[in-house]
Order: sequence, then structure tokens, then C-alpha cells
Amino acid sequence: MAKKKKAVKAGSKSTGSSKPKPKMAVSKKSSATKTGAVKPGSKKSVGKRAKAVKGKLRIVKPVKKDRVLITGAAGFLGSHLCDRFLKEGYHVIAMDNLITGSLKNIEHLFHREDFEFYHHDVSKFVHVPGELKYILHFASPASPIDYEKIPIQTLKVGSLGTHNLLGLALAKGARILVASTSEVYGDPQVHPQSESYWGHVNPVGKRSMYDEAKRFQEALTMSYHHYHGLETRMVRIFNTYGPRMRLNDGRVVPAFMGQALRGEDLTIFGKGNQTRSFCYVDDLIEGIYRLLLSDHAGPVNVGNPKEITIKQFAQEILKLTGTKQKLIYKPLPSDDPMQRQPDITLAKKLLGWSAKVDRAEGMKRTFAYFKSLSQAELNEKEHFNFEKYSRKK
Ligand code: UDP
Repeated sequence: MAKKKKAVKAGSKSTGSSKPKPKMAVSKKSSATKTGAVKPGSKKSVGKRAKAVKGKLRIVKPVKKDRVLITGAAGFLGSHLCDRFLKEGYHVIAMDNLITGSLKNIEHLFHREDFEFYHHDVSKFVHVPGELKYILHFASPASPIDYEKIPIQTLKVGSLGTHNLLGLALAKGARILVASTSEVYGDPQVHPQSESYWGHVNPVGKRSMYDEAKRFQEALTMSYHHYHGLETRMVRIFNTYGPRMRLNDGRVVPAFMGQALRGEDLTIFGKGNQTRSFCYVDDLIEGIYRLLLSDHAGPVNVGNPKEITIKQFAQEILKLTGTKQKLIYKPLPSDDPMQRQPDITLAKKLLGWSAKVDRAEGMKRTFAYFKSLSQAELNEKEHFNFEKYSRKK
């Protein structure tokens, strides 16, 4: 079993209401060291290594790294998490069933010895040989058009998949962080949304397969924490954008950018007066990393509180991309939340975290990524992997 990091109480039974540690200094470069934790693969974490003996054969034992399992690893967030954990010195076991994810997002990692990939659906029993220090459960369709097309898979990965991974965490003595979402607040009647708000979700609506799967995931995760004393972490992710979003996943950032690049008009759903608050992916990953190393078991919002209407956002995209296209209006999908803004007081207090990349900069980087895609990718309307799953109308 891998040694526990000093920064984190082993077997801690902290809950959402437990008193947070007042300070947790984590920097991008050497977070683990600053928290007093042992950096994976460091001499301290592997015990004594073989010393060179003069004139004799020198046996150098391989450095043992702490192992982390990342599900949904070929997706937008999962792939960025793989990059981050490799950078921090972990051995990454990436898992994905590739329904919505793409190997392209992680193909730059396949040559590494500290990276391995399992093609597996976590809704089925999950087996990983060897030790695991951490599990990050990020497998799930995350875009409204995706989860509407594959609703059963969405419900299964949030419920059965989470159950399998919690069981795995228990068996391995691993800490688990699950990806929750601002969608647990539904179409919120409280603004901005803090973790203490219980939400306003339609249990049988168009988004219910995602919202309720994630709410069940939270309940199941907390039950494992309270009943089994499992070390759990829960991040409620608000709208996030950046490189490696799937261009045709229907979410507003890739939708508008794809339209601008193809010379199509930008489609605003409804009047465009609904709001969202967009967080750049690097900021989100930093928040998740800090949360994992914290001792807080309950849900924590991570997002950028800078709120904007969808119409203003479309105008910003027109300006950024220099397109001459118009804004056109389409019906608002049902249960589309009218406002969304994270209250990040808790993340600031617990993790010393807030978003650093402003929208202008983040969008510039994201547009550069979308511009670099091939014509074929730019024109791909349907996600090829859906065919075998989605029901023919
Ligand atoms: N939206 C839009 N045009 C599009 C795609 C999305 O106006 O082509 C709107 C959508 O109705 C929602 C907001 O943009 O109000 C954000 O949608 P997204 O699918 O990105 O994620 P959500 O925050 O709704 O989960």
C-alpha cells in the first residue's frame, strides 16, 4: 500500500460541515512539497534506493510512483487531469470507453512508461491490478445533446459506474474524487449558487438523466464516506471551456466557435438572456488538484464567478473570431437553466483557490485550438461513436 501523504489525514472522516484546515499552500510547481506531502516518486516515497558500490555492478531499483486512476481520461477534463498528474510525478492509469471521449486527447501520452490506458466502461465491474493512491471519476457524457442521445449510459455511469469506483476505492484504500456538476442545482432559484443550496431539478425533464445521475452520485459518495469512512472528495464543476472540447458536442463554446469557423450564423437559444459563468480549463484543474489534497469530504464548487448572458457571449465570439456572420435565434430547450454563477467562498477558504485566467485570454487560447483542427474535424456534425448507442427515430 502506498504511503499516505502527510498533508492529508489518513482515513479522515471529515464531512462537508467539518472544520477546514485554515491554510493549504499549493503552488502549480511543487504543491505536494509545500503541503508537507511526499512527492510521488521522490526518494522519501520509495524508501532507500540502491547505492553505487565502487567496482561492482550497480543495481538501481526502479522508482516507484504513486498510482492514480482517472476515468473519462480521453475526455476534455480527463485528458487535462492526466497531463497534470503526470506532471506532478504520478503513474497514471487512464480509463475510458471512448463513447464521447477521443484517443486524440491523450495520444501524446502513450509513449510514456508512467502512463497506461484501459479501454473499459466503468458501468461494468472495474478491476485494476496493484495499488491505487487516488481515483478521479470523470467518466460521463457532459453535454446536453450528448446525454439526451445516450440517456441510459449517462444514468449508468453516474450510478453504477460511481458504485464500482467507490467499491474499488474501498478495496484499494484509495481516496476518491468524483466529478459532480452545477447541474445538481438545476434551474436555480437562488443566485449565486452555494454548496448549501439544494437545487431546483426536474426529475423527469430533458436534463434529468444527467442531473439526477449526478445527484445520486453525490448521495452514494457521501454514504460511502459516512458508512465506510472512505476518503471522498466532490467537485461541483461549473461551465468550463478550453482546448480539447469536442467541436460537435453542442455546448455553447464549441458550438459558437465551430459556427464562426465554418462561416455559419451563431445560434442563440431563446432570447440569449440566460446567463453562464465560464471557467478556463487550467483554472479548473488547479482547483480539482487542490481539492483532492484537502481534507474536505463534502461538495465544493469550482468555477469562475464572472457571469455573462449568452447573447453578450455570442457578441464576444463574433469579435474574437472576426466573423461577419449574424446571430440567429432558436427555441430555448426545456429546462435550460436561466442563470448560473458559482459562489466560490468555500473554495477560496478551503483551497486558497480562485480563477486566474480571464475570459478574453482563455477564449483566445481556445480559439487557437479550434482553428488548428482539420477541415474534416471542423465539418464533423455527428459524433461517430454514437451510432451504435443512439436510438434511431
Ligand atoms: N446555447 C446557445 N446556442 C448554442 C448552444 C448553447 O444559445 O448553439 C445556450 C444553451 O441554451 C445554454 C447555454 O448556451 O443556455 C449554455 O449551454 P451549454 O450546452 O454549453 O451548457 P449548459 O450550461 O446549458 O449545461
